[in-house]
Amino acid sequence: SRRENLLELRDVRAYYGDVECLHGVDLTVADGEVVVVLGANGAGKTTLLRSICRLVRTDGELLLAGEPIGGKSTYDVVRLGVSMVPQGRGTLADLSVEDNIRAGGFVRRDKQLKTDIAYWYDVFPRLAQRRTTSAGSLSGGEQQMLAITRALMSRPRLLLLDEPSLGLAPIVVRQLFGVLARVCEERAVAMVIVEQNAALALDMAQRGYVLEAGSVAITGPAARLRDDESVRRAYLGY
Ligand code: ATP
Repeated sequence: SRRENLLELRDVRAYYGDVECLHGVDLTVADGEVVVVLGANGAGKTTLLRSICRLVRTDGELLLAGEPIGGKSTYDVVRLGVSMVPQGRGTLADLSVEDNIRAGGFVRRDKQLKTDIAYWYDVFPRLAQRRTTSAGSLSGGEQQMLAITRALMSRPRLLLLDEPSLGLAPIVVRQLFGVLARVCEERAVAMVIVEQNAALALDMAQRGYVLEAGSVAITGPAARLRDDESVRRAYLGY
């Protein structure tokens, strides 16, 4: 029932102007669960994430820990425990690494930022080394780690990741997913990951959804999606 789900979408439709781009999506995420969203370009994956953090107009029901969030602002949704790492990362190029991390804690009222920053420097030693460097001069992989750290500084219960591996070298991508798995375990953060690298994402996820033209075409446990003939052909390449 509703109480068991951290996030629940029912019959969600999303609109850009008058154009409906999601056509009645049902999706759930349990506490601490990792869910992967696959789909071709234009299928509506980014729009789905934008719906959850209230950056696009929607109809239907969106519940976070049982509370309706459809009428809330992005700021309120962040305060309620949702954080997004947008495609292209969106770090503040002119600010230092540490100031970017601090910026991620803006919704917090407690004074524990220092403890958290130390924790994240331990997870990402590379960011600690580069704490005074401007974000704009980091490598792509470092910027992605910074964007993730910044998003986690609000201590979200739900992290939304839009194509985190985009443009990164395979070895960096594997490191990144290793760290996401650690974060998920140590911090009990649930995740919705939109990802082209379906094999890696399905390895990490408990469940998955395949979006096609704004609707859910397939959903199920990650292991079942991995064995699905059409998923294999379209997203796993064998
Ligand atoms: P990609 O992998 O290319 O990012 P996606 O699955 O994330 O694709 P969306 O970006 O969510 O897909 O786009 C879904 C549909 O909404 C597409 O038809 C797209 O053209 C349309 N769309 C996306 N953003 C806007 C916008 N700002 N205004 C109008 N239409 C948009």
